[in-house]
Amino acid sequence: MRSVLPSHTRPIWAEISASRLVANYRALQAAAGPQVDVLAVIKANAYGHGATECAPILAAAGAKWLGVTSAEEGVAVRQSLGILPQGMPQPRLLVMCSLWFGEEASVLDYALTPVVWETYHLDLLEAEAKRRGFPAQSLAVHVEIDTGMSRQGVAPGALLQQLLSRFTAHSPLLLEGVMTHLASTEIADDPQDRRQMRDFTHALEQVAAAGLRPAYVHAGNTSSTDSGYMPQAIPALAESLGARAMTRAGLALYGYTLPLEMRRGIPNPHVASSLQPVMAWKTRVVSLRDIDTGTTIGYNSTFVSVTPMRLALLPVGYADGFRRGLSSSSEEEGGSVLLHGVRVPILGRVSMDLTVIDVTDIPQTKIGDEVILIGACGSEFVGADEQAHIAGTSVYEVLCGISDRVPRVVVE
Ligand SMILES: *Cc1c(COP(=O)(O)O)cnc(C)c1O
Repeated sequence: MRSVLPSHTRPIWAEISASRLVANYRALQAAAGPQVDVLAVIKANAYGHGATECAPILAAAGAKWLGVTSAEEGVAVRQSLGILPQGMPQPRLLVMCSLWFGEEASVLDYALTPVVWETYHLDLLEAEAKRRGFPAQSLAVHVEIDTGMSRQGVAPGALLQQLLSRFTAHSPLLLEGVMTHLASTEIADDPQDRRQMRDFTHALEQVAAAGLRPAYVHAGNTSSTDSGYMPQAIPALAESLGARAMTRAGLALYGYTLPLEMRRGIPNPHVASSLQPVMAWKTRVVSLRDIDTGTTIGYNSTFVSVTPMRLALLPVGYADGFRRGLSSSSEEEGGSVLLHGVRVPILGRVSMDLTVIDVTDIPQTKIGDEVILIGACGSEFVGADEQAHIAGTSVYEVLCGISDRVPRVVVE
């Protein structure tokens, strides 16, 4: 394969497949159905895939909404889209973790749409909008309802009532969306999801009773789209308010899903089988050595050879987000990588910048050979989910933990 890496960096990079990202987005939109828009979640640097790399690709594929973490990330994404923010430019950018003091100016400058639930969110935005002479009902926000995560969001009832009273006819604030977040969507028939949807319904009734007519109602994520539950429940709720239904999906955009579970019955994934991993994380062999029996490898000598071996050194470590939990010892297997289409084991501790692998069985290995850390080679595949399993964490954490010093390179 041709080299995609700028020649002045050390040999470690993540290839981001534009065509796979688009195909996954289309598969998600197809699974969600024509009545539901998919908001493409590119928060946390697009789960490690590069928010400013992924945003223009998704925008060109027709995504109307993108979800970012913060105003800061929203500004970078808006700049990557190269669209001058006038009015409400497409795609819209939902700031999923709202704004902090001092960020209100960039929310307005870059036409970001924050999720809000604290009074201070509204205070900051309203004051800035008034200062700039924004007309009534021109600054869109989405109110989050807390239905059971006890994290972000306002509880239905008195607190919601208070918040809704801020959206007067004269305020520059516009209640454009009402949303909630569900806790256990990978369990397709989880009773908590049902309880949350019931509370969300009550909140929407409160919104309607306050005379407010949001344009969007949204809930759900990758797993609810995969299980097919949310695409059924949300349009009916949205319709009752004359709103458009939306769901928010991140993980599946990048080609991964959580295994679905069901308390009663067998879940039937709607989208998992049509997804392809977007990232191929690669490096190259930078050093080779032969060792004798009884040689120690890595910190704390957790691996000791019992036969002569050939080792290859990779310029990747936990400072790149290559999990230390992939380490092995003489007693316990760790993670593996792909070399010449073959799975080879990691030996000893993954250190900050370096990892040693066993190439004894691949004698043709030479310095410069490409190594796949995450991705496919021939018929073999190492997934971020496999690494998460070995390292005792989630696929989300593995992907968004890939650090900034790994260049992201967009490929076809
Ligand atoms: C991250 C997030 C999502 C997307 O979740 P996935 O499981 O990655 O699809 C949706 N909604 C909210 C509020 C989120 O924070």
